[in-house]
Amino acid sequence: MSKPSRLSRPFFILLLLLLLYGLWIFSRPAEEPSQPLVRSRLLMGTVVEITAFGSPPDALERAVTAAFAEMARIEELMSPHRTGSDVARLAEAETEPVAVASETAEVITLGLTVAARSGGAFDLCLGRLKDLWGIETDHPRVPTPEEIQAALEGTGQKKLQVIDNTIVKHDPRSAVDLGGIAKGFALERAARVMEEAGIRHAAVNAGGDIRLIGDKLGGPWRIGVQHPRDSGKILARLALQDVAVVTSGDYERFFMRDGHRYHHLFDPATGYPADRCQSVTVVAPRADLADALATAAFVLGPKKGLDFLKSYPEVEGMIVDAAGQLTATPGLKGRTQ
Ligand code: ADP
Ligand code: MG
Repeated sequence: MSKPSRLSRPFFILLLLLLLYGLWIFSRPAEEPSQPLVRSRLLMGTVVEITAFGSPPDALERAVTAAFAEMARIEELMSPHRTGSDVARLAEAETEPVAVASETAEVITLGLTVAARSGGAFDLCLGRLKDLWGIETDHPRVPTPEEIQAALEGTGQKKLQVIDNTIVKHDPRSAVDLGGIAKGFALERAARVMEEAGIRHAAVNAGGDIRLIGDKLGGPWRIGVQHPRDSGKILARLALQDVAVVTSGDYERFFMRDGHRYHHLFDPATGYPADRCQSVTVVAPRADLADALATAAFVLGPKKGLDFLKSYPEVEGMIVDAAGQLTATPGLKGRTQ
């Protein structure tokens, strides 16, 4: 065998280097395109916008479509207005066990833990009260005290029990209403669907309630929290990633009567809209938890509500009280403006 000539050796080395470079280029993970895909749909009575980074474009589009479909599926299960939905069937039930989807059982289980920890401020059985006030309908009204007392019968967390995937109402008058938690759960499910499709950077925004996946490609997502009395004003700017941010406020679904604001967050102790806060914003690892905690803390009021939020590790929050005064958990202090 003849030895390679002096001239061909550098050539071989160059060829080897080129080959290695080629291998490195092709084995590198594809970089995420810096422009996100942005899509929106009308779901759960609000505009849901998904912003997602990733590639290839058709796979990204498919994942976002699947996330919307998942939210629509959750809405079908938990809407009281759809015949045959889990919540509609629960409304019709007397005290016989009602078989529900595992998702509905999961939401109710979480809701019941928040109900217990909040001393009943969060209540999954306020459906009759909600119908009575009709805040979210075209004909809201202030009911009589007698009507309110009657609608409060069947409320309270002890009235509901989850056994595997069946729900038992211990009082036939209980009307299950998942309005304080279902949207957060749908956000959480949408995020799960996208993560399972390999998406690492995305935001799902349902009318200001937001679930973030990862960061915004190299930097945190910047979330502006709306001022409860001035929609053009930002109360706080939060730099966040991989969490949910959910707000419960008295400023979106309400009606005015005799100078008084009647809104859609009820104090189960009185049957009237809770009047100690203007808004509560919660940052938590999960959107369903954040949703329930925001509603619960709103009802509890600024002092008890803040202590309640602090009792959850990994949860932060800010509360605007009835006078417009802002307080926040230590993790958010200094981030408000
Ligand atoms: P939004 O509808 O703006 O997302 P929330 O997440 O705070 O606001 O949920 C409001 C809904 O929660 C109400 O429309 C009603 O269905 C339900 N709800 C009202 N008061 C309570 C309460 N004390 N506990 C649990 N759910 C409640
Ligand atoms: Mg809520």
